Amino acid sequence: MKLPIVQQNLSIYIHYPFCKAKCPYCDFNSHVREGINHESFLRAYEKELEFFAQKTGSRKIKTIFFGGGTPSLMPIFLVDGILKKISALWNLDENCEISLEANPTSSEANKFKDLRAIGINRLSMGIQALNDDDLKFLGREHSSKEAISAIEMAQKSFENFSFDLIYARPKQRLEDWSDELKRAINFGTKHLSLYQLTIEKGTKFFSLYQQKKFELPEENLASDFYELTNQITSDAGFGLYEISNYAIYPSSLTRSVEDPRMTSVVKDYRCKHNLVYWQGGDYLGIGAGAHSRIYLNDDEKRQAITMLHEPTAWLKKVEEQGAGIQKIEKISADELLEELILMGLRLESGIEEEKFRAHFLKNFSDIFDFQKLQKLEAQGLLNVEKNRIKIPHSQRILTDAIIKKVCDSLIC
Ligand code: SF4
Repeated sequence: MKLPIVQQNLSIYIHYPFCKAKCPYCDFNSHVREGINHESFLRAYEKELEFFAQKTGSRKIKTIFFGGGTPSLMPIFLVDGILKKISALWNLDENCEISLEANPTSSEANKFKDLRAIGINRLSMGIQALNDDDLKFLGREHSSKEAISAIEMAQKSFENFSFDLIYARPKQRLEDWSDELKRAINFGTKHLSLYQLTIEKGTKFFSLYQQKKFELPEENLASDFYELTNQITSDAGFGLYEISNYAIYPSSLTRSVEDPRMTSVVKDYRCKHNLVYWQGGDYLGIGAGAHSRIYLNDDEKRQAITMLHEPTAWLKKVEEQGAGIQKIEKISADELLEELILMGLRLESGIEEEKFRAHFLKNFSDIFDFQKLQKLEAQGLLNVEKNRIKIPHSQRILTDAIIKKVCDSLIC
């Protein structure tokens, strides 16, 4: 198979579509079900992996990510079975990052040790808040005590663990968030995903918000929250490598930070799997509602594949046809270009000419009108280098608007 150089590696995303309860802000493909037949699900995951292995050729697996839903509800035999099947079908890179999203209830935290033993090497926990009132408002199943105990249990088994927090919550003050974030950092994590609360259509929060049952911080305050978040994380040595993702990595720690981590060689704790999405790498999504962006067989066009969302319908289709595909489309060069810009400019490192050349065999000067880009640079909205275009740190809050302007600078 003739593949663009960047696609000779492959990442695999496994979607587990079940949760104990539906959080009021969540618009992910998650379902609350009793009596799930996990043996049938294991057979279906295996079958779908086999189906796609025949079409991908012998590519090296760089990252695997179990997302959801709540993958920490998966029985160990299910996670183990899927990992064994992936190893049997492809070659795993010796440094393959294998992440799993976990919720911090005590029953799930009790599984962390076993998850580490079967090969999970990165844990990403949905902590969301460190106080009980806000956890209750967010509809979470865990208490702050459980969250802290889960973080401590994760520390024992995982050197690489991350957690998510949601901020800019109703009535939250900047000083409350500052205290909470500093407490979070003190747990010693090297990666944090920090999201502002947003209201998505179709969620319970959407109707409550329409009924004015709660208010969100005004735009100016939301931007103050973001600035404060960036400042606190930066003071602690974290780099903002994507709009909402912060990690310790070699260039994130400045010499001015007096940090014991500086005394040893600093590892890169950015999430490799998410970098694959943002840098236009190939990934295969397995499970109900999963998405793929992938070159298959000898096809020169990248494909966008969506799996059936409803878990039972997905299961049935896999049993009958080998894969629960809902839609498969070839991505046109224009669509791919926009996707790469949209995803790449979310990153601190921006978009790189080399990655574009791998897909399109073209230089930046064949793709962008540099005069238009330089105008954006003069307005302080972009940094334009010969081989790299990125959004300056101070303008990250305007990312969506700037991306639109960059797309207006396309000449092909
Ligand atoms: S646990 Fe996560 S996936 Fe499940 S409903 Fe809550 S936010 Fe959504």
